[in-house]
Amino acid sequence: MRWEGRRKSSNVEDRRGRSAGGGGLGGFGGKAIGGGLGLIIIIIIALLGGDPGSLLGNNQITSPDTQVPYEATADEQEMFDFVSVVFADTEDIWHDIFNSYGYDYKEPQLVIFTDSVQSACGVAGSSTGPFYCPGDNKLYIDLSFYQELKDRFKAPGDFAMAYVVAHEVGHHVQTLLGVTEQLNNIRGQVSQTEYNQYSVRFELQADYLAGVWANHVQGMGYLEEGDLEEALRAANAIGDDMIQKQAQGYVVPDSFTHGTSEQRMRWFYKGFQTGNLDQWDTFNK
Ligand SMILES: [Zn+2]
Repeated sequence: MRWEGRRKSSNVEDRRGRSAGGGGLGGFGGKAIGGGLGLIIIIIIALLGGDPGSLLGNNQITSPDTQVPYEATADEQEMFDFVSVVFADTEDIWHDIFNSYGYDYKEPQLVIFTDSVQSACGVAGSSTGPFYCPGDNKLYIDLSFYQELKDRFKAPGDFAMAYVVAHEVGHHVQTLLGVTEQLNNIRGQVSQTEYNQYSVRFELQADYLAGVWANHVQGMGYLEEGDLEEALRAANAIGDDMIQKQAQGYVVPDSFTHGTSEQRMRWFYKGFQTGNLDQWDTFNK
């Protein structure tokens, strides 16, 4: 992706080198996670089928917001700058798309952290993976995830990371348009298996929205050769079936929450081809 020298978002909050605040964590566990909102958040954070329980397991952190000077390596700073440009592109593009439908786009914030972070959805560690918290309209990303994409998921390249950011922004779009709330309302009224199916549709919609974003990046002339393949490779690598096969050697389709590799690639690509919200209804397809 062509990004050097371009506008960086002013909505990026640098929390690197700070451990998560832990003063009220006991209260958090019961309060935020116990409610319906907490439960929906757990669905959203688990982009990679990671363990949402990691949100709950940080009670041992006791010192709130310990400030340690953070010295980024040149590579880390480059990734920080890259993600800031990607985030700026999501702002410009979603403003345009929302305007074309007569809506106002409210920009989310992006929090870059190391190790662990406090969000309105609770304390999360890096192992949670990138997530979006509807409770504070912020994305949370530990940039070491870029390395994980490359090493663990064999999905290298800057645009693989851009896809992950765009997917999380997709969850913000879903929140603004009321989809998140609808999914939240379904919880408790259907079986777990059925709920998982809604969760898959919800996640595929975020992939579609990431594809819509990529369409506009291409339209602005910033897409480079190989970028689309990088995003598709990442979508393939983080499919539920692929992750389960690697982790346990077999797949349990009823437990899928994000969709198969094929579904994730297909919906990202559909968004990429469409470039708008016209075919975004993943729930009735
Ligand atoms: Zn997601």
